[in-house]
Amino acid sequence: MASLRQQIATTALTLTKFRELMKRMLENRPQDDLSLVKKAYDYSLKHHEGQSRASGEPYLVHPLEVALVLSEMKMDPVAVAAGLLHDSVEDTSVTIVDIRKEFGEQVAHIVEGVTKISKIDFATREEQQAENLRKMMLAMVDDIRVVLIKLADRLHNMRTLEHLPEERRHKIAEETLEIYAPIAHRLGMGKIRGELEDLGFRFLDPVGYEQVEKSVNARRKEGEAFLAKMQQIISDKLKEAGIQARVESRIKRLFSIHKKLQRQRITVDQVYDLCAMRVVTRSLQDCYAVLGIIHNLWRPVPGRIKDFIAMPRPNF
Ligand code: MN
Repeated sequence: MASLRQQIATTALTLTKFRELMKRMLENRPQDDLSLVKKAYDYSLKHHEGQSRASGEPYLVHPLEVALVLSEMKMDPVAVAAGLLHDSVEDTSVTIVDIRKEFGEQVAHIVEGVTKISKIDFATREEQQAENLRKMMLAMVDDIRVVLIKLADRLHNMRTLEHLPEERRHKIAEETLEIYAPIAHRLGMGKIRGELEDLGFRFLDPVGYEQVEKSVNARRKEGEAFLAKMQQIISDKLKEAGIQARVESRIKRLFSIHKKLQRQRITVDQVYDLCAMRVVTRSLQDCYAVLGIIHNLWRPVPGRIKDFIAMPRPNF
């Protein structure tokens, strides 16, 4: 049994995370009733008691981190509660019948879906097979929240992957790149896909990762200054034109740079789209108006402009 000192430390750590979760949910969804989330926290606190992760942290930190990712996605209390409970059937004495009794049909259905997906063996090397597995996973669920919990679960597992032995690390990183990152991409969750890919790349090919990181970092400062300048120019022009929009910018992620270097056999200095910007407008008309403004500021490169407004990509 854990010592009293350990118990107190665990409670303090998880309580801090739980407060953070509640705060974020209140910010993102002020109308929601959060009692289900509180109840799920108390329940998983009780049932994961004494368990710890490979990192040595109390187990409960994991479902809490998963719930935090879900709250960042602005998910509803049912999904966040299910996120807190997602490992309880697999890793504790709790059964799905218990969950149904305590939390109702919806939460139970989602937890059951997550547990089911966790049992698929995704080990594969063939691209065609990977595509089949991705399809199978999406076909198995009738509630998209199951997939989102699985993605949040995988994201936290990847963030803490260094604590696992080499062989497991390799397998999980591979599966992340082949199955989970493409699913995140398909669902239009670019931020999650980007982090999953970079983490997968780092664990599968640490040397390659470090090389790309080093050469991108050498250009990062200059790139960020450039983006800040462009962002200002565009924001000013949009204000002048009376268009409401959000202007975002970023340096391309390491894994996508790495893929580009491999595909085109070039160096980081030759990557022309290392810096990227995005303008999010309220309407289609505004979107074209912004395109017009930008083409007026900077002449488009012939043959390189594609109208994804009229012909959206599969991930919209
Ligand atoms: Mn988990």
